[in-house]
Amino acid sequence: MCALGYAGEGYSSAFTDNMTRIVMGQLRGPEGDETPIKLTGYADNICAPCPKRSGRLCNNQQHIAQLDRSHAKALALKPLEEMTWRDAKARIRKHIQPGDLKSVCMGCAWLELDLCEAALRRLHANEAEQVLTFPSAHDTSNT
Ligand code: SF4
Repeated sequence: MCALGYAGEGYSSAFTDNMTRIVMGQLRGPEGDETPIKLTGYADNICAPCPKRSGRLCNNQQHIAQLDRSHAKALALKPLEEMTWRDAKARIRKHIQPGDLKSVCMGCAWLELDLCEAALRRLHANEAEQVLTFPSAHDTSNT
């Protein structure tokens, strides 16, 4: 979920370089929605160069584990679940409403920047736009 509102800020230049490559280069790239994602309970590809990583965990593991549990509960995620980035965004839209992050992400230092809430609002707005833009199943004007 943290990839949704990523705006190029991070814990070090190595961390942001890596996360920018994954988020801007892959997830937000032309084929980004098809990117496969596998959930882990450990430090993942995004965490790999993070200066706060300690082996497969975080040096603030208690805090991260609490956020992971909160996200997993809110999004109804199962351990090691696999999905595409398209599925992940659909899951966020279904389960997380604008304004929810203050409880779902309670304690995260990035929350107060409002980047993630703004991205969540855009995600829901884009969905509403698509519903308004796409012809309905009963629209036969092009047939
Ligand atoms: S507020 Fe923090 S935990 Fe929540 S999505 Fe943003 S970066 Fe992730």
